[in-house]
Amino acid sequence: MDTVWILGDQLRRDTGALAGCRPGEVRVLMVESDSKVGSGRWHRQRLHFVLASMRRFAEELKAEGFAVDYRRASSMRAGVIAHREEFKPERLRAMSPMSFDGLELLRALDVEVIDNDQFLCSAQEFAAWAGDRSNLKMEDFYRWQRQRLNILMDGKKPVGGTWNYDAENREPPPKDGRSWPAPIIDSLDATDARVIADIARRAPEAFGSSFDGLWATTRTGALARLHQFVDEVLPLFGPHEDAVMSTEWKLAHSALSPYLNIGLLHAREVVDAAHAAFNDGRIPIASAEGFIRQVIGWREYVWGLYWLWMPEYRELNVLEAESPLPAAFTGGETDMACISHTVKAIDERAWVHHIERLMVLGNLSLTSGVRPGALVDWMWKSFIDGAEWVMLPNVIGMALYADGGRMSTKPYASGGAYINKMSDHCGNCRYDPKKRIGEHACPFTTLYWDFLARNEPELRSNHRLGNQLGSMRKLKDLDAVRERAVEVRARLIDGSL
Ligand SMILES: Cc1cc2nc3c(=O)[nH]c(=O)nc-3n(C[C@H](O)[C@H](O)[C@H](O)COP(=O)(O)OP(=O)(O)OC[C@H]3O[C@@H](n4cnc5c(N)ncnc54)[C@H](O)[C@@H]3O)c2cc1C
Ligand code: SF4
Repeated sequence: MDTVWILGDQLRRDTGALAGCRPGEVRVLMVESDSKVGSGRWHRQRLHFVLASMRRFAEELKAEGFAVDYRRASSMRAGVIAHREEFKPERLRAMSPMSFDGLELLRALDVEVIDNDQFLCSAQEFAAWAGDRSNLKMEDFYRWQRQRLNILMDGKKPVGGTWNYDAENREPPPKDGRSWPAPIIDSLDATDARVIADIARRAPEAFGSSFDGLWATTRTGALARLHQFVDEVLPLFGPHEDAVMSTEWKLAHSALSPYLNIGLLHAREVVDAAHAAFNDGRIPIASAEGFIRQVIGWREYVWGLYWLWMPEYRELNVLEAESPLPAAFTGGETDMACISHTVKAIDERAWVHHIERLMVLGNLSLTSGVRPGALVDWMWKSFIDGAEWVMLPNVIGMALYADGGRMSTKPYASGGAYINKMSDHCGNCRYDPKKRIGEHACPFTTLYWDFLARNEPELRSNHRLGNQLGSMRKLKDLDAVRERAVEVRARLIDGSL
């Protein structure tokens, strides 16, 4: 009998090598790799999410009648070799993995690779779109996706006459004291108890709060969260997308990325649900367009860039940033209210929203000169939705500008003023976002000016930074700012800030 190998982020019945297979026709192989689980400081909920979702998917396949070889092994390679020895399959096939190294492994193991159809635009289609364009703008890709997938289109024109409603989506935190829908929480069962015990034994360095049912580990649970999002939250999606609130962890974000990334949901069904809600008049065009842009635009764009630019991309570090992570990211105390809140939120649920990733954690790492590989590794292990394909463009390209502008036209660097405008953190902080020197100077503000000065040779040719560099050169206290920045950077590392 042939074997179909299902990797831990391909938990779908209707895609890849398992699509169309019936019980009795193929045996299914799934491997839990000890070296992966035990490889460093993973968030407990992240490990739990993957392991419980894999085990439950295997049970579902067994209930359907499939013979499933679910095995624990020292590595993926060892698991596949042991399976071959025991079952001697005529053919072993798998869907093309989500990572470059995974694909290399499959090739080395002589596994038959089936195209990956967990995305709406395959790596090959993206490469054809990219062709010899000099500029791979997300907005161009998104419009191309809208047209070819016929989503929110009125013939050749965008529904509503406008492609992108982002201009309406930049509002600060709402001040009307509104309440947001409570998240669905599943009760834990015997599978969860076994996974919790396993993690305690197999992942001694794991950190963060234990799994509490916030994240679904089945397709049924993921669908319930999708429907709740579409019915109760999507109508609010948009205006406050960029806001950060200490009292509300996800505002109108969907928190669906974990399920999309391991196959419990497919982009097609998520987009169809949002599209249907718009067609029924249940959500405004700005909310529908804003959300659909994230899924068929940003998500697929990042996937395409990853395959287009790997493997060289993960080594890029054009700003030669070499600092380790701030101590506060890995358990140290800090008086910076925005950082303290964000890191605690990660501890609690292994998730923070896009602006906290980009403009709080990413911004501090960019302006203080954190080594790109260190930030990628930490975020990958800390976020419930972490994966290399999505992490590299977002961290190397978007957050750290380590690719010199291949992905973003300018670095997302900002001082405390931006965080003060978009969040409610600064009022509770010992630092002052307006100050750039002195003991109470906001580290973001000091580091922002220092970043521009320190990297001026690399950034000078970027015309979009002309005004910012001009303002930096005019600062009368620039020397004092740079002196303070040296101290701030050292204290971020030793954890005394
Ligand atoms: C530094 C940094 C690290 C990130 N790390 C990850 C990561 O490990 N895993 C991950 O899935 N996303 C990552 N992102 C992208 C984005 O922040 C998350 O996808 C998003 O916050 C997930 O929350 P959500 O489901 O509520 O998103 P929503 O705001 O509700 O958006 C809907 C969906 O669109 C997709 N999406 C939106 N923006 C992006 C983007 N920039 N890249 C890819 N997909 C996007 C996601 O699948 C998301 O579920 C990162 C972004 C940055 C700046
Ligand atoms: S003052 Fe600076 S460090 Fe404090 S919360 Fe605001 S941006 Fe963060």
